[in-house]
Amino acid sequence: MRYGILGDIHSNLTALETVLGCLEQERVDRILSVGDVVGYGAAPSQCIALLREVGAHVVLGNHDAACVGRLDDVYFNNYARAAVAWTREVLSCDEMEFLHDLPLTLHEEHCSVAHGTLYRPELFDYIQSPTDADPSLDVMPLPVCFVGHSHVPVTLLRMRDDPTRTAYTAESEIDVEEAYRALVNVGSVGQPRDEDSRTAYAIYDSDLGKVWIRRVEYDIDVEAQRIRDAGLPHMLADRLYLGV
Ligand code: ZN
Repeated sequence: MRYGILGDIHSNLTALETVLGCLEQERVDRILSVGDVVGYGAAPSQCIALLREVGAHVVLGNHDAACVGRLDDVYFNNYARAAVAWTREVLSCDEMEFLHDLPLTLHEEHCSVAHGTLYRPELFDYIQSPTDADPSLDVMPLPVCFVGHSHVPVTLLRMRDDPTRTAYTAESEIDVEEAYRALVNVGSVGQPRDEDSRTAYAIYDSDLGKVWIRRVEYDIDVEAQRIRDAGLPHMLADRLYLGV
């Protein structure tokens, strides 16, 4: 089975359309999303509609949760909170219900999906080091798990020859067949934060036992203008050019 995995879309329609075009060429059988479909960007309804159209399997992100009242936005910064408030105003009841009903984790045939961590996903903790990853690696029921949240693509691995040691790699091709457990952060479709402004997505081929992180240019101007036109903080448009 070939999976296409989308991280943190954040209401960025142009980036999502670009990635879905790539996934069509990559001939994926199923599309997964690690959550944060909305927040920051100015096209939440369109992004939700596209994900529904392609039948994506989606988990709940912290911004999605804040929009529908499943999470207090007290820990959000001012920009994020402003975007959550704006998003709440523009979403229909049906779209709010879609977000509200998203699960915290998914277990597919060959991989699991969560937003921040697989261990206690409701806390929306970040995985930025092997130590952060260990509790999730310990509870993974399948060899591969996809996450997002930090918007930085990186993979935490435990190898068969020494499953007690957690290593990490920023390689764009990951041999998960070789690994005992692989926890893959797929980066962000709509707001990359690794100083690379290109949109990011992942492909997982379970037959080949390989994951690839792909980066593609998209029309940032269109999306930045949409954010400004919506009256959202201009900083949310400017950061797209910097990949931060
Ligand atoms: Zn996010």
